[in-house]
Amino acid sequence: MGAAAEYVAQAGPGARGAGWTPRLGGSMATVEIQRPTDIDRLHEAIREELRIHIGFAGLDIEDGTLDNLAEMVTSRIDYGFNIEWAPKWITPGDPHRWHEVGNDSPSGEWHFRECLTCGRMTRHSNSDRADADYRSHTEEAHQIRHT
Ligand SMILES: [Zn+2]
Repeated sequence: MGAAAEYVAQAGPGARGAGWTPRLGGSMATVEIQRPTDIDRLHEAIREELRIHIGFAGLDIEDGTLDNLAEMVTSRIDYGFNIEWAPKWITPGDPHRWHEVGNDSPSGEWHFRECLTCGRMTRHSNSDRADADYRSHTEEAHQIRHT
């Protein structure tokens, strides 16, 4: 992590999903963000599935109601099961990659990388920069040589 990096602290307890949204600023810099808890990831996955299926069904349900439904389902699962985020779609050695619309990003998108070895999660203004940072991180922190 270079001097240009910015650490963004997660919001306080009870702010489910707060770790997903980094604070604005440092558009060209590597920004480390707080890794969400496994329960926050489950809640977000449930909320997204509900949103998609409610959309397909053509139902008019407000975001607050959708949030409440996702929270109730998440709480019920959390009450009776051990939850561990284990993304089966990621090839071992690869990072967790995703991007989001970002009007404050020079490219219009933010690109994220999460190291599944140590949990380091970063945000970048473009995909090439994100991949370069991940390669650099894994070489320095995990002694992995890339060809
Ligand atoms: Zn790492």
